[in-house]
Amino acid sequence: MDLGLAGKKALVCAASKGLGKACALSLAKEGVDVTIVARTAATLEQTAAEIRVATGVSVTAVATDITTDEGRAAALAACPQPDILVNNAGGPPPGDFRDWDRDDWIKAIDANMLTGIFLIKSTVDGMIDRKFGRIVNITSSAVKAPIDILGLSNGARAGLTGFVAGIARKTIRHNVTINNILPGPFETDRLRATLEAGAKASGKTVEEVAAQRRDQNPAARFGQPSEFGDLCAFVCSAQAGYMTGQNFLIDGGAYPGTF
Ligand code: NAD
Repeated sequence: MDLGLAGKKALVCAASKGLGKACALSLAKEGVDVTIVARTAATLEQTAAEIRVATGVSVTAVATDITTDEGRAAALAACPQPDILVNNAGGPPPGDFRDWDRDDWIKAIDANMLTGIFLIKSTVDGMIDRKFGRIVNITSSAVKAPIDILGLSNGARAGLTGFVAGIARKTIRHNVTINNILPGPFETDRLRATLEAGAKASGKTVEEVAAQRRDQNPAARFGQPSEFGDLCAFVCSAQAGYMTGQNFLIDGGAYPGTF
C-alpha cells in the first residue's frame, strides 16, 4: 500500500534508538524527510547515516534534550513546519511512590506529558493551515493497564492521554489527527535494561528472566521495533485521516480485556 506520504516532513523525537528510531525508519521508507532528535550526537549521527543509506531521504539530526525549552526550540528550528510529529522521550525510572518527591514527578511530567503538549502547541496550527497533519504520541500499555512500579509513567502519560483526547476532536476537520500508540514489551535497550534489573533482583540470569517474560505474553515473544514503526507509519498515512484521539495498543495481546 502506498501510504501517500512521499515528500512530507516529519519531526521524530527520541529517535536514535528503539521505538523512535523505528518510527523514523518506517516513515523514511515511505519517502518522508525526517528530522530526528536525541541527546547523544554520536549515536544519533550513526542512526541518521543508517536511515539515509537505507532510504535515500533527507535526514537531519538534532542532538539535544527534547524535554527542555532549548531542546524543543532547536528541534523546531531544524524542522519548523512538520507534517508529522512523533512525540517520544525516555521513560521515567521504576520505583515506589513513597520515594518520589516533587522533582521526580516534575521530571516525569516534563518528559512524558508537557514535552508532547508543547510540541503539539508549536506545530498543530501550521498543520491546520496546510490541511494535513499527523501527530503520534508514543505512550505505553501502562496507560491502559497500569504497572505498579511505573507510577511516574502511569501518571504522566495518563495526563498526556487525557489532554490529547480533548483536542484531537478539534483538529480532524482540518485533516490533522492526533493519536497515541501504546507499546507493550518491545525488544529495545529500555527493555533490556528492565530485564537486567529483573535478573539482578531475582538472582536469575537475564536470559531466564527474558524467557519468562516472553512466555507470559500471548504471542510468546517480544515485539520488534519495526512492527511498531510500521504501525506508526500507517497511523500517519493519508488513508488514516478518519481516526483521531485513539489509543492503539500493540502488545502481543497482553492486555486481556475485550475492549
Ligand atoms: P530506548 O531506550 O530504546 O530509546 C529511547 C530513545 O530516546 C533513545 O534514542 C534516547 O537517546 C532517546 N531519549 C531519551 N531521553 C531523551 C531526551 N530527553 N531527549 C531526546 N532524546 C531522548 O527506549 P524505547 O524502548 O524505544 O522506549 C521509547 C518510549 O516508549 C519510552 O518512553 C518508553 O518508556 C516507552 N515504552 C517502551 C516499551 C518497550 O518495551 N520498549 C514499553 C512501554 C513503553
